[in-house]
Amino acid sequence: MKPDCDLLVLGGGISGAGVALEAARRGLRVTLVEARDYAWGASSRSSKLVHGGLRYLQSGALHLTRESVQEREALLRELPGLVERIGFVMAHRRPFGPGRRTMQIGLRLYDHLAGRRARGWASNADIPWLVPGLATDDGASLYEDATTDDARLTLRVLQEARSLGAELHNHTTLTALQRDGRGQIRGATLRGPDGFERSVACRCIVSASGPWLGTVAALAGAAPPRLRPLRGSHLLLPLWRLPLARAVAWRHPEDGRPVFAYPWQGRLIVGTTDLDHPELGTEPRIQPEELRYLLAALAHSFPRAGVSAADVQCTWAGVRPVIASDKPVAPSQESREHLVWTQDGLVALAGGKLTTFRRMAQAALAAARPWLPTLPPPVHRDILPAHAPVAGVPLRWQGRWGALAGQAARGALIPGTTTRWGELRHSLLHEQVRHLDDLLLRRSRLGLLMPGFAADLLPALQPLCQETLGWSAEHFRQERDRYLALMTTTHGVPA
Ligand SMILES: Cc1cc2nc3c(=O)[nH]c(=O)nc-3n(C[C@H](O)[C@H](O)[C@H](O)COP(=O)(O)OP(=O)(O)OC[C@H]3O[C@@H](n4cnc5c(N)ncnc54)[C@H](O)[C@@H]3O)c2cc1C
Repeated sequence: MKPDCDLLVLGGGISGAGVALEAARRGLRVTLVEARDYAWGASSRSSKLVHGGLRYLQSGALHLTRESVQEREALLRELPGLVERIGFVMAHRRPFGPGRRTMQIGLRLYDHLAGRRARGWASNADIPWLVPGLATDDGASLYEDATTDDARLTLRVLQEARSLGAELHNHTTLTALQRDGRGQIRGATLRGPDGFERSVACRCIVSASGPWLGTVAALAGAAPPRLRPLRGSHLLLPLWRLPLARAVAWRHPEDGRPVFAYPWQGRLIVGTTDLDHPELGTEPRIQPEELRYLLAALAHSFPRAGVSAADVQCTWAGVRPVIASDKPVAPSQESREHLVWTQDGLVALAGGKLTTFRRMAQAALAAARPWLPTLPPPVHRDILPAHAPVAGVPLRWQGRWGALAGQAARGALIPGTTTRWGELRHSLLHEQVRHLDDLLLRRSRLGLLMPGFAADLLPALQPLCQETLGWSAEHFRQERDRYLALMTTTHGVPA
């Protein structure tokens, strides 16, 4: 009997989205299920950098840097408006290295891998012109990387997969795996948002479940490689509080780890931490010690700015699904490589980065070949299918919405943001929104960008949700209470 689909993908983060797109482009019938919401995990809680991994050069992981730089350049070419170049100023502070000379050698290689020259150098005397208020001991090195909206990038990849026939289901949980007579995993039982269970037969399953790899593998009775979940937390400040025109990186005075601050969507992001996070059952949130650590980083490099906890508008924390080396090393010393592991028709993908999602998807599909023998090799060179630009729509919306830009980029701008009301309406109608946080944290980023978690927007949002989703006034009230409680506990500023 013909299975319901060729490939069942578990997880709607960037990794699962990348696998779904790559498989759909190669003609497979794909179903993707996400237990919470698309990009609910690390893929909406990252540092939002599309970067070549300059620091991996230090650990000798040249191939990882090469791959990341190539993917960064490809994403910049293909997704203008969603992936954008940003200049970095790396302040040299004593006693932590790398010193100016070592850094310039690394940047020469970084430029070489990218095929373009971006490196530069600024003396202490130049700094006030480049980044007013930045403290340096030995000038700064200059280079370039890129930024994105991580959740929107994930949704854009999913949108492309859907346009090629992939079936996508969020708020759908895997409850069991099914084997055929030869012991191969050939299907799954899924519980949908309505609480009903259904079985899906497939040829192969790719699990892209991030730090929850162990949970999926346990259903298969298998023991996968051990992950070391690592939490990274960020602060978001109004940009006027520290008006930076470019990204600034420096070494934290307490442990020499790299930290950064950069302008993003008219606000300032400060990050990040790197700490063991063994508790996967609840939403990750910043801890008081991490807030102190990030404020101490700012005080060290911007001593006159006087930034305090009272300036922080909101926070977020994400969990990196890092492969454990099982050596007694600090979290930041663990490799950021990805891993593909297979057992009986279950292919698991973990680790890696947002930036390299296409390469990870290709590696997962290569590993799935024993169960998908007719899978053609990749014929396309681009990451996303190319679209003719939609006439009259600015790049920002072309990048975010692709072929749908004309439908979504409508209506007035929501004050203080670059989001249009038409985007919210489009998401409500077509992007499987089930909760207010789906809309305000991942379809848009208004819950982070607007003061007070966008609470002032909610009265105007109510009629739109009622009209498009059929919610009653009581349902909206419940959603509002749920959303505000979630935001206060997971995106607030710890006492
Ligand atoms: C703090 C931090 C900063 C980072 N910064 C950067 C950066 O600047 N640049 C960069 O390139 N990378 C960065 N990364 C790395 C990058 O964000 C992650 O590697 C990437 O987002 C992981 O994507 P994923 O899809 O594998 O996992 P996730 O995004 O965590 O997605 C896994 C999904 O699987 C779902 N799931 C779990 N179990 C099941 C199941 N049984 N069935 C269905 N669904 C399931 C979860 O709900 C979740 O949505 C950062 C990561 C963190 C945490």
